[in-house]
Amino acid sequence: MLTGIHVVMIGGDARQLEIIRKLSTLDAKISLVGFTQLDDGFIGASKQDLDEVMWESVDAILLPIGGMSTEGTINSVFSNKTLALEANHLKATPDHCTIYTGIANDRLKRMAEQANCDTVLLMERDDVAIYNSIPTAEGAVMLAIQHTDITIHQAKIAVLGLGRVGMTVARTFQALGAKVKVGARDSHLLARITEMGLTPFHTDDTKKELTDVDLCINTIPAKVLTSSVLAEMQQHAFILDLASKPGGVDFAYSEKRGLKAMLVPGLPGMVAPKTAGKILANVLADLLLEQAQP
Ligand code: NAP
Repeated sequence: MLTGIHVVMIGGDARQLEIIRKLSTLDAKISLVGFTQLDDGFIGASKQDLDEVMWESVDAILLPIGGMSTEGTINSVFSNKTLALEANHLKATPDHCTIYTGIANDRLKRMAEQANCDTVLLMERDDVAIYNSIPTAEGAVMLAIQHTDITIHQAKIAVLGLGRVGMTVARTFQALGAKVKVGARDSHLLARITEMGLTPFHTDDTKKELTDVDLCINTIPAKVLTSSVLAEMQQHAFILDLASKPGGVDFAYSEKRGLKAMLVPGLPGMVAPKTAGKILANVLADLLLEQAQP
């Protein structure tokens, strides 16, 4: 149980509700900042402003998946107020206070370091990334159906990257009957693609390999779909870029050529906020229990 553990949750979206529910069940004391429009009551949770929080008793700070903006603000879909976490808040916390966030920019990292707070980046954990790849792949299927006029079954699909997202995406489209080829650069990944019953190609050959595809799903966070690659693709091809911003596509060129290309971040929160929230809630609960009983 998390009895006596004080957690401050600042901002976020529908995923935070599952986290509050889980932590409330585990008997944590929860300060909710930026939740003025939240109607549900949760046992042990109280709505507060940043300046009302008893920072000296805080064991953990939970930020949204997107972390903090470069201007130092934190988004909340449950409040119209700007939430600005300041160095003074962090400096008032005890030494063991840990910040849990999806990602962290330099500003957040610097603030945490100056306040001696450990930072846990949830999105860099394999378990979170692999669980999250499931709603991401389902979102990719949804977008493929919405933005093409052919069935996924028998469609020629290229997936770029065989990381945590690429593997789930490739397997999901394969299971729907698509003809899936996967681009990777590492020999062990090319072997894995073959083992999975998919067609491998080296990313050096991306230009040649994409000339006949109906759908290309990119998961590589680097500029792989350059203008020279896009120039050779079929006019009807749909390009779905799942990589983190700015993505891997030359969007200016794809627009000029009239190719349909989309950068779609945050699919888990969009298509399955409850599941995505549960994934985070379970991992966070384990981490907080570990922190509470080292
Ligand atoms: P990952 O496990 O690190 O996989 C990335 C893959 O890209 C690796 O296989 C890596 O291969 C490959 N790669 C990186 N740079 C490359 C390059 N220059 N050329 C060829 N291959 C390269 O990451 P992930 O968890 O699958 O996530 C992939 C991307 O999707 C990330 O940007 C992540 O933020 C994003 N994402 C988006 C959503 C969404 O909703 N849109 C959801 C989850 C994640 P090597 O091993 O050879 O480096």
